[in-house]
Amino acid sequence: MPLMEPYRIKVVEPIPVTTRAQRAQALTRAGYNLFGLRADEVTIDLLTDSGTGALSAAQQAAAATGDESYAGATSFHRFREVVEDLTSYEHIYPVHQGRAAERVLFSTLLKPGQITLSNTHFDTTRANSELIGCEARDLPCPEAADLDSREPFKGNIDLAALEATLTGPDAGRVGLVIMTITNNGGGGQPVSMANLEAASRLCRQHGVPFFLDAGRFAENAWLVTRRDPDYADADPRDVARAAFRLADGCLASLKKDGIANIGGLLAMRDGDLARRCEVILTATEGFRTYGGLAGRDLAMLAQGLLEVTDPHYLRSREASAAHLADLVNAAGVDTVQPPGLHAVYLNAGRLLPHIPPERFPGHALACALYLEGGIRTVELGTLMLGKEGAQGEPVTAAPFELVRLALPRRVYTQSHLEYVAEVVGVVAKQATLVPGYRIVESPPILRHFNARLAPVTA
Ligand SMILES: *Cc1c(COP(=O)(O)O)cnc(C)c1O
Repeated sequence: MPLMEPYRIKVVEPIPVTTRAQRAQALTRAGYNLFGLRADEVTIDLLTDSGTGALSAAQQAAAATGDESYAGATSFHRFREVVEDLTSYEHIYPVHQGRAAERVLFSTLLKPGQITLSNTHFDTTRANSELIGCEARDLPCPEAADLDSREPFKGNIDLAALEATLTGPDAGRVGLVIMTITNNGGGGQPVSMANLEAASRLCRQHGVPFFLDAGRFAENAWLVTRRDPDYADADPRDVARAAFRLADGCLASLKKDGIANIGGLLAMRDGDLARRCEVILTATEGFRTYGGLAGRDLAMLAQGLLEVTDPHYLRSREASAAHLADLVNAAGVDTVQPPGLHAVYLNAGRLLPHIPPERFPGHALACALYLEGGIRTVELGTLMLGKEGAQGEPVTAAPFELVRLALPRRVYTQSHLEYVAEVVGVVAKQATLVPGYRIVESPPILRHFNARLAPVTA
């Protein structure tokens, strides 16, 4: 069947249409930082797929039944039932978003000086590990380093490196192994079931807790059915269930595959660990049956967690990401291969070789896409990931200069994405004219959110 969104539209929201002069003015006011734009200055917003999904009619109906009781709300019990069926974990806590689950788990489980290992820590996961005084060590598989290769499971952890760490001199310091599915930091690439099984086995052998960072559990499961012949006929929900069964617990941002605007999850098997987490949870998030969420949020999440494994939805999501990647590639812009589901990543470093890393080619491309077509994206390159010396010279450039086109769930149609590809094509034709940027003003950490920049014209 050709690409078709498996839903029809019941409620619409007008898209802001702006002139180039308005966009140029907005960009100057925002200090050439797309995080500083007002949403009504953006035509197509591909900044993130987090919390930006469209609710279904069934979710809206569930919201109306939301039970706002402080303790023991029926909405919690519905949420718990869906999550337990999916994950098989006994102890299930809602939290307001993924990073809250990270903080509650890490501050309970970890001690300063320990190490957390991951295929790739997401940035808040890394920050929460480091805030405890731990070292967050990434062990991505070697295939992840080649952006162009079409290896099916570039989100895998490097099993040899994992085993070497669990048997080497640092073995006693490893406090947690956490597998990010899909691997957001690694381009949204999936993790294979064989890799999860092997990592799980190694952790059990060495007595180290093994958790999933499962924000995109359904997208990972879908890509397993598409890329591993052993799972070709499997139901994505069953694949997701099998993945959760391999772990001791999970944390998750439900702003992704919960298809809701807010929410997160912490769940585990170990009752003793759960009781210790509950203390922090109650003190900082909320009582265990709401964790900082409203009853209506829990009701919408329970429904979203059912809808997200619908094969028709996942197939359409895969097809629209692949369609966008194909069009962009045909316009002469390379993307991280193979395309995943939640985003398409443009190789800005390759498109703009005249801009050196310290002039932020990814950021330059993101600004050009906004100026040309009102498209908001995010740079994943030296502005976000690089480090600078005292005089502003880059001490380390990021390994790649990428621009992420994140795809909100059920929000944009095929024609929206074709518009995006057209704008990318126009910018690509004038690539040599795109200017680099310099930082004018920057906070000490997380500078990509708040830095002010200015174009550097030769
Ligand atoms: C979004 C995300 C988080 C953090 O979740 P929030 O809901 O944004 O706090 C953690 N891990 C991964 C892989 C994510 O994508």
